[in-house]
Amino acid sequence: MMEVVLFGNPGSGKTELMKALIQGLEGVNFVDGNVDAPQLRDIFVGKETKRDAFTIDAPFRNYMVCVSCGLCAKNCPFGAIDKVDLWIDPIECEGCGVCAEHCPQKALQMTNMQVGHVVHVENGKNNLIYGELMPGAIGGPLLVKSVREKAKDIDTGRVSIIEAFGLGEMAVRALDGADRLVVVASERDGAPFERVDSFFRGTHKFLVLNMAGSGHDEIRRKVVERAKDAGYEFLFEVKETADPNERNEAFKGLVGIFKERVLNV
Ligand code: SF4
Ligand code: SF4
Repeated sequence: MMEVVLFGNPGSGKTELMKALIQGLEGVNFVDGNVDAPQLRDIFVGKETKRDAFTIDAPFRNYMVCVSCGLCAKNCPFGAIDKVDLWIDPIECEGCGVCAEHCPQKALQMTNMQVGHVVHVENGKNNLIYGELMPGAIGGPLLVKSVREKAKDIDTGRVSIIEAFGLGEMAVRALDGADRLVVVASERDGAPFERVDSFFRGTHKFLVLNMAGSGHDEIRRKVVERAKDAGYEFLFEVKETADPNERNEAFKGLVGIFKERVLNV
């Protein structure tokens, strides 16, 4: 299954593009990568067919008892604990519990808890998979990973298109390794690349510009140059406008190009 990540800062026009793709494509698993406040459920009309509890096993360190001996980091089979500052990486950690077993102080305790849900919605044409993280809960990057995996398991979809809306660095990392990255840039966020530069290294990258006729020629020039240097292929440009209907229409007309160039169908 091909995985496409759609990335852009808030207000870039990314959701308008996603909306057009939901309406214009078939056999696609749409994935909402924003587990703190999923939005695609508001634009994907369908029936909820599954809602699974999402739980994590996570080690918690009692710093009052920890003596910084480093044995947990030394024994972690996944290299998830930094050997210098002993920080536990929430993406690399697999919840195996080996660190807790090796802690001479019993400072690490494994805790299993439900932190959210994974939800599947169908409309006979496409699927939507999204995660809901409980307010204030940890485990957001793991939930992003989980919705991504869930989408891969749904065999009615040939393609997963993942909207990475408002993600922090951790969650962007949880999407690393996707086949395609499409970045939407507008005049409002001249530098959307910073947060994805160090990831998606082997990924085929595309740029969508949402700033034609905005009058911000200098920003536009810089974005295009920057994208070119980073190996992005220019996909299409739409007119910058504050009118949501106009934006929707503009993106709708570009679904064909997206299909041909990004999805190769
Ligand atoms: S639970 Fe396992 S993977 Fe996670 S930090 Fe401990 S040893 Fe490493
Ligand atoms: S093994 Fe236990 S005491 Fe040693 S650094 Fe890790 S948590 Fe702290």
